Amino acid sequence: MQPAGVHPRATVDRALTLAGEGRRPAEIARLLAVPVSTVVHWCRGDRRGSRSDGRHEGCPRCHAVPLEEDAYSYLLGAYLGDGYINVGRRGVASLSVFCGDDWPGVASEVREALRAVMPSSSVCDVRRAGCTQIKSYAVHWPCLFPQHGPGKKHTRDIVLAPWQSAIVAEHPGRFLRGLFHSDGCRVTNWATKRTESGVRRYEYPRYHFSNRSEDILGLCTHALDLLDIPWRRSRRDMLSVSTRAGVATLDLVVGPKY
Ligand SMILES: [Zn+2]
Repeated sequence: MQPAGVHPRATVDRALTLAGEGRRPAEIARLLAVPVSTVVHWCRGDRRGSRSDGRHEGCPRCHAVPLEEDAYSYLLGAYLGDGYINVGRRGVASLSVFCGDDWPGVASEVREALRAVMPSSSVCDVRRAGCTQIKSYAVHWPCLFPQHGPGKKHTRDIVLAPWQSAIVAEHPGRFLRGLFHSDGCRVTNWATKRTESGVRRYEYPRYHFSNRSEDILGLCTHALDLLDIPWRRSRRDMLSVSTRAGVATLDLVVGPKY
């Protein structure tokens, strides 16, 4: 066994993933060949050590902790789509993102992004009917998502802080991936055409993004504009990308949910 503090990031992540799946520390310790006390330490989010304010957390907004901006851009999209912040007693907040059971790959990316953005906190899964609530507790989640507020997102103004807009401008593809992974989809329509060699089937893939918040739709179209992706409003609460070039770009940065 290796002593605590010298374990590669992958081992810590694996331990937290197993913990998120509901495995007990003793079992995780055996699987990964690390001391139980080390596993408990990681799961409590103590990995970065105690901070001067007594909280076992490093907040990229309040402390000199770097922010993984590409992961943040993705998480911001996922949060605006299907995320929720709850502030509980003693100011400990939880950030939850709801992921449908049909897309385990998306759920993994959300877990990864939560860990990358708040490495001092572990991530856990709460089973719900048809979906999983992926949850992370940290005092400082509201610092990172100042859009947090009472009521549904479409009933209040959703405006990004300048530092958030700068991150989206730097990583628009990641932001769109988060948005489309939560409230978007890639659909394929078919059409047949008679040609000299017979009847051929043509595929027309397109992307839809739907959200009841006009502000969130506006943030989505802004990011699409940054990548020169043409879009149109197909419904009051929905926008579509259907040009060949636009779909090709979204295929690179988003792709089908998986
Ligand atoms: Zn903070």
